[in-house]
Amino acid sequence: MSEIKFMEDLRNQIINTAKDCKLYREICELQDYDFDQTLKDENLDEVPYINWNYFKESNKKYHELLRIPLEKLAYWTLSSSTTGDPSIVGRGKQDIEVFKKNYEKVFKDYAKMDSIQTLILFAPSIRFMNRMPGSWMGKRGYLFYRDITEIWKNYEINYLLKFKIWKVILYYLTHFKGKAFIEIDGKLLRKSLLDVEKKQVPALIANSAPLMYKNFNDYLKKYKKGFNMPETFRVQTGGGGWNGVKGRVNIGQTIDKAEFIEMLSDFFNIEYDNFSDLFGATETPVACGGHWSKKYDDFLLHLDKNQGRIIIREIETLERIKKTKEPGILEIITPYGVDTYAGLAILLDDIVEIIDFNKCNECGREGIVFRVVDKLTPESGKGCTSFYNLYPFSK
Ligand SMILES: [Zn+2]
Repeated sequence: MSEIKFMEDLRNQIINTAKDCKLYREICELQDYDFDQTLKDENLDEVPYINWNYFKESNKKYHELLRIPLEKLAYWTLSSSTTGDPSIVGRGKQDIEVFKKNYEKVFKDYAKMDSIQTLILFAPSIRFMNRMPGSWMGKRGYLFYRDITEIWKNYEINYLLKFKIWKVILYYLTHFKGKAFIEIDGKLLRKSLLDVEKKQVPALIANSAPLMYKNFNDYLKKYKKGFNMPETFRVQTGGGGWNGVKGRVNIGQTIDKAEFIEMLSDFFNIEYDNFSDLFGATETPVACGGHWSKKYDDFLLHLDKNQGRIIIREIETLERIKKTKEPGILEIITPYGVDTYAGLAILLDDIVEIIDFNKCNECGREGIVFRVVDKLTPESGKGCTSFYNLYPFSK
């Protein structure tokens, strides 16, 4: 896609979002935004953005970010919250299709989705996620992660997080409210991995870095050996969690990314190239794929310019940072997948630095290359008590 087309699509999306969404219109008016100006890379930072905080349930503004009437909403997409205060993003059907496509592209490109046969997921099953309760303003809400998992629905999937129904009933009887009791199925995890090793089938183990790290360390202590996996075995991480907190899981320690890679590559006997990372956020449809870089001891993430642009802002002043390798707050801009809510420019709470504005020197992919260095809001990982047993090999 040409730069001109992208900018023109973005300009139209800004005009139409302001038309449909009062809250966004007010933000535009407040900064006297000139809707007629020609957009180019140099003035992208003037595009009025929405702070991700606006989507938080506690702010009670999430419904004001809709561009369509509530009846037209497919459902709310929810972030897995570390604080019990999720982001609630309303989306119409067409926007859901777009982010699913973006994520699928990343899985194909970075996790070799087309060659994978088995998936081992540190996640609850889609069936469970479909039954998780939750509605806002009379409309159903589902985890954003459910939709991402659905991209893999035609694969053989081993879901490792199990829902303990009798525990729920017991808790309900004593506390008069619902609470999820979840545990990791250690037997299934061991069996799935032994199966992959024995049959040497192309498999992908994915999701939570903290859960993988802790469980495989425990496994190693218990069984004194790892696995001799086929060359096709891959590890996919996503959604951060490097400070030891992800969703409602808190392992109480920071995970060093380099240590994680080293540990798991030894444990499975696979190369660093077999790891991939994914960066995305519930508030934006954009998905970025990443590979390991020995030079940076970090995952390098890539944003395809057909999907969007990013801007890095200084933490104190929110002024745009135009240099590489300077940390700042990440803003994601895209005209695609935001027809039904005000999501065209979102200021997130991730602190990142740009490695290159145009191309990755390591893999040759074109686009914006960046890495995540920190998070603005500290994650507290409340709710560990909801979990019954996430570390089956620790005993
Ligand atoms: Zn690269």
